[in-house]
Amino acid sequence: MIWSKEETWDRKEIEKIQLERLKESVKRAYENVPLYKEKFDSVGLKPEDIKSLDDLKKIPFTVKDDFRANYPFGMFAVPKKEVVRIHASSGTTGKPTVVGYTKKDIRTWAELISRVVTAAGVTDDDTAQIAFGYGLFTGGFGLHYGLENVGASVIPMSSGNTEKQIMLMKDFETTVLICTPSYALYIAEVAEKMGIDPKKDLKVRIGLFGGEACSESARTEIESKWGILATQNYGMSELMGPGVSGDCEYQCGMHISEDHFIAEIIDPKTGEVLPEGEIGELVITTLTKEALPVLRYRTKDMTSLTYEKCKCGRTTARMLKIRGRSDDMLIIRGVNVFPTQIESVLEGIEEIGPHYEIIVTKNGHLDQMTINIELADGKFLEKFSCLEQISKKVDHKLKTVLGLSSKINIVQPRTLERFEGKAKRVKDLRNVN
Ligand SMILES: [Zn+2]
Repeated sequence: MIWSKEETWDRKEIEKIQLERLKESVKRAYENVPLYKEKFDSVGLKPEDIKSLDDLKKIPFTVKDDFRANYPFGMFAVPKKEVVRIHASSGTTGKPTVVGYTKKDIRTWAELISRVVTAAGVTDDDTAQIAFGYGLFTGGFGLHYGLENVGASVIPMSSGNTEKQIMLMKDFETTVLICTPSYALYIAEVAEKMGIDPKKDLKVRIGLFGGEACSESARTEIESKWGILATQNYGMSELMGPGVSGDCEYQCGMHISEDHFIAEIIDPKTGEVLPEGEIGELVITTLTKEALPVLRYRTKDMTSLTYEKCKCGRTTARMLKIRGRSDDMLIIRGVNVFPTQIESVLEGIEEIGPHYEIIVTKNGHLDQMTINIELADGKFLEKFSCLEQISKKVDHKLKTVLGLSSKINIVQPRTLERFEGKAKRVKDLRNVN
């Protein structure tokens, strides 16, 4: 099933609407967001200079730091009166990245999610359990309205509370599971411990996974443990949230809603646009967003594009599997974590020296972050209660900033590795292939 006719338009039609909407989006951004006016002026560009899709590359990039510098509402192109929803995600400091939506944006979002879930095979006969966090994170609410829009029965379960998830899944006869891929594996593990075989005892038939990259081996494992079709979808709050692209049943790259987003692949070092098929950083321009138009946003996600028509009948460009990040951001259990965030927390605690180490592993199927911290002074080692206090303090502060807990390991002074030049403080030992 295909949700909307735009997904099967030929390239000419897609490009025609893209150009029309790009011009509008550029005008809206330039006239209402000081940041864009500054960016355009700095390279001597005017909105009317954008005459073809090829002119897109003249527009300077937008980066996550732009959101931070314009916190909280400086990126909005409409008066706050017109904003009906505000979401936020964690940034490189304590301040989150704030995004807003008009009524029309919310409707568009529901429509684009409808495309994604329909492509995965969801219909109005399905019961969909959303095990993404609701709240400021865009994942829960994003999927929610789109699934309702296609007529599925939505269970807004939110993440966590795994045994109850499983109980409801069984009792409510859930057929669609929405969560991060690692959580899907974790739920399966807990179910097995409860004596429930997800494949036999549950009715789940489709998984819609997002929020973190999913390796092929993890996908295969999810499919075999659950006996489902495991699809992935993509988005990020700066661009709207989930709904930018999603897998169809052929799982051969995520279809991008090109009448709402223009995707480019650039060389992350030079910023040069790369041809079809080459791997580089994904750059997205929003075409229809009213509250928050975003021009040439550098996602930091490494992928490639293909414009070949898909077996499913959709003609939209597909982005292939995410091949990691072009910067040092870690994704832990679906949450964005920057080593600099951790550093800024540690800097504020006097018992601790400047040396630390972040180790990311998989504990079963869940990401586990361990932080080894060196004491500033050996005298703290003498008392166990003192160590415990320090470790609690660090854990509490980190939790406040990152929104997730980590394992704190306090070590003696001068035991962690020292570096000449750029420190390698992060060891990501998860096996992502
Ligand atoms: Zn397809």
